[in-house]
Amino acid sequence: MSDANRTVHVIGAGPAGLMAAEQLAKAGLAVVVHDAMPSVGRKLLMAGRGGLNLTHSEGIDAFVGRYGAAAGSVGAWLDRFSPTHLIGWAEGLGQPVFTGSSGRVFPRAMKASPLLRAWLARLAGLGVEVRTRSRWSAFRRSDEGLEWVFDTPDGERIERPDAVVLAMGGASWPRLGSDGAWAAMLEGVAVEPFRPSNVGFDVAWSGVFADRFAGQPLKPLAMTFDGQTVRGEAIVTRYGIEGGAVYALSAALRDAIERDGTAVLTVDLRPDLSVEALAGRLARPHGKDSVTNWLRKAGGLSPVAVGLLREIPGELPQGSDKLAKRIKAVRLTLTGVQGLARAISSAGGVRLDQLDEGLMLKTMPGVFVAGEMLDWEAPTGGYLLQASMASGATAADGVVRWLGRDPSSKP
Ligand SMILES: Cc1cc2nc3c(=O)[nH]c(=O)nc-3n(C[C@H](O)[C@H](O)[C@H](O)COP(=O)(O)OP(=O)(O)OC[C@H]3O[C@@H](n4cnc5c(N)ncnc54)[C@H](O)[C@@H]3O)c2cc1C
Repeated sequence: MSDANRTVHVIGAGPAGLMAAEQLAKAGLAVVVHDAMPSVGRKLLMAGRGGLNLTHSEGIDAFVGRYGAAAGSVGAWLDRFSPTHLIGWAEGLGQPVFTGSSGRVFPRAMKASPLLRAWLARLAGLGVEVRTRSRWSAFRRSDEGLEWVFDTPDGERIERPDAVVLAMGGASWPRLGSDGAWAAMLEGVAVEPFRPSNVGFDVAWSGVFADRFAGQPLKPLAMTFDGQTVRGEAIVTRYGIEGGAVYALSAALRDAIERDGTAVLTVDLRPDLSVEALAGRLARPHGKDSVTNWLRKAGGLSPVAVGLLREIPGELPQGSDKLAKRIKAVRLTLTGVQGLARAISSAGGVRLDQLDEGLMLKTMPGVFVAGEMLDWEAPTGGYLLQASMASGATAADGVVRWLGRDPSSKP
């Protein structure tokens, strides 16, 4: 359909909102995007700091499985906007991608800023109006229907759009704009409480260990929790531990800590060697070496890995077999979960059963929701941006269909 007299407002200018805006404008609708912050896409730009991981190259079944309980819904969004679509889209914005050894897909530029610049230029070319410092703050019901109230530097501004896409993000890293304040404003919509996802965990390190090793990577390692093993790397922090391998297990670890108070993670410090091969190396005599040096040389352990081994209460086991088994199964007790302020993403949000297939709220015709506002979670690896953008495209399709089907019933 094409009807530039119909105006759709998108609230939130992150990856989900901007993707919805692009698709809506391409469908011929007049689009206004609001963001509460002075500039758009702040979390996207932050994501680009450590290398913007756009998506992942693994097969679609495994990919969809990363969304756990939400896989059914997210799978439908990925049908609409798949990892292949996302790569083509990024390349269309002049950002060729490469696939890293882990299967993760990045723009060659690594940063998000060139991609965001090109994206905003494309949106401007499509006639999308972007209003920054425009914070949605309330609904009001009037004789003319639902009114949307925005706080702007010029005071309150009232809008009566034909449809609205809400894309205000989750509740992690609130200083980047997504503070989750919208949850209290969506009356009558079931919202699951926010919880940190892809987050670090507390460990009661000794002061000596924390002073010496905070900031150092433990790699390569494998971590096992609740039957799931992940290879990768982790970083020792003052408060405990964080990093890719930890994030991959973070949903299960968080749930266990919420339930039991603590969780025991099993860490393999030599994932590339079998117990037997490692025991063979450790059977060599110490000579004049201290235990620490000998573990470094014979065991091939980094200083931080030796430190971790010695953090576990009790003496190191005697005998190469027992020691090899310990190195390959260090039991680390996690005592708490870091908060939302430091989490890469959040679990919780608008429950998926509140929406129809086009991501329209069942209780609010004409109001659609996309991105991390929705109740799904996934590990790092490109799964977060992929689902955010795919849901933005799905919501835009929903708007187009809805306006075409029943243009008279406005929100
Ligand atoms: C440090 C870090 C690194 C990351 N790295 C990656 C990565 O490499 N790969 C990956 O896939 N994901 C990564 N992520 C996650 C990814 O950035 C998010 O999942 C994604 O940005 C979510 O998109 P969104 O559009 O739903 O929400 P957001 O990007 O959070 O955008 C929401 C927008 O809504 C605006 N807003 C909020 N409330 C209002 C309001 N009331 N009125 C108007 N505007 C409002 C906010 O200002 C914000 O701009 C990372 C996140 C962090 C914090």
